[in-house]
Amino acid sequence: MWLGRGSRGIAGYPCGVSHAGPGAPRTSWGRAAVLVLGIPLGLVALAFAFALWVPSSGPTEAATVDATPVSDVTPAVPSTTPDPTTAPPDEPADEPTAEPAATPTGPDSQSPSSATGRSGRSDANRANPALDVVWRVETDDPVFFITVDDNLRDQAVADAALQIVRENQIPITAFLTTNYVGDDGDYFNEVTSFGGSIQNHTVTHPFLNSAGSDPYFEICTAQERLAAQFGDTPWMMRPPYGEPYFSGADPSAVEAASANCGVNRIVMWSAVVDNGKVSYNPGTTLQPGDIVLFHFWDPKFAEGLQMILDIGKANGLSPAPLEDYL
Ligand SMILES: [Zn+2]
Repeated sequence: MWLGRGSRGIAGYPCGVSHAGPGAPRTSWGRAAVLVLGIPLGLVALAFAFALWVPSSGPTEAATVDATPVSDVTPAVPSTTPDPTTAPPDEPADEPTAEPAATPTGPDSQSPSSATGRSGRSDANRANPALDVVWRVETDDPVFFITVDDNLRDQAVADAALQIVRENQIPITAFLTTNYVGDDGDYFNEVTSFGGSIQNHTVTHPFLNSAGSDPYFEICTAQERLAAQFGDTPWMMRPPYGEPYFSGADPSAVEAASANCGVNRIVMWSAVVDNGKVSYNPGTTLQPGDIVLFHFWDPKFAEGLQMILDIGKANGLSPAPLEDYL
């Protein structure tokens, strides 16, 4: 159902290591009673034996109480201090839930017209829970997919785009960078409310394979924050700048962090709309299964949306929920 650069099963890192306390050493003191009866050395022997007996018998059981904590669980998420200016006030202490609440899926659930919406997993996803890197969807359905990244910059632009989304009931998959969501949560809720969903685009938008980047913090913490703010735990992640996939650097750390944080689709793209222009890779026009990248901050976001709808219409294609195909 998708075209990836190889399907990778990720062994990943252990989510938690439980250290049981050492077994309590137990000492048996079946020391025989001291028998000293009526001889001149009896009192001396009794005192000597008593001196040996007293300190070794009384406290033995009490001393074997295991003081080791019941469990010493290593969290999957590194204990990086979140930015207090951006962290939601009610950030949950719990691990992110890898599996969102089950969405009823009927026989039509994979139909392009049946929008799962808001992060429900499709049957295709449930059938293949292993991590995959997706550049475009391999499908014969007359559909393409609209994804929008990052954050708002201009409210008038955002409003004009929302108007087009609303009029055309476009299922938008929004990849949000949590440090920049700010007060725009309502906007992102509404713009994804037509069969779309909110997904992971990290906390700070770094190059995930750069020396100073911590993929666990970037991916896992974004999972927690998006779940806390929007009520759905993402399962797609778009790496900022498409890295390390464009450069060909080793993606193992990014993929291990993704898999351990509940992400099983790393979503790239096969077409870009930027500043009123569209480019395709591969191909020269919109094709079934193309994943189109937009940015919320593009000053021509609204014009670009209308343009891709028109191109899709000319090619017999309609935007569909990406969730239903991954
Ligand atoms: Zn981005």
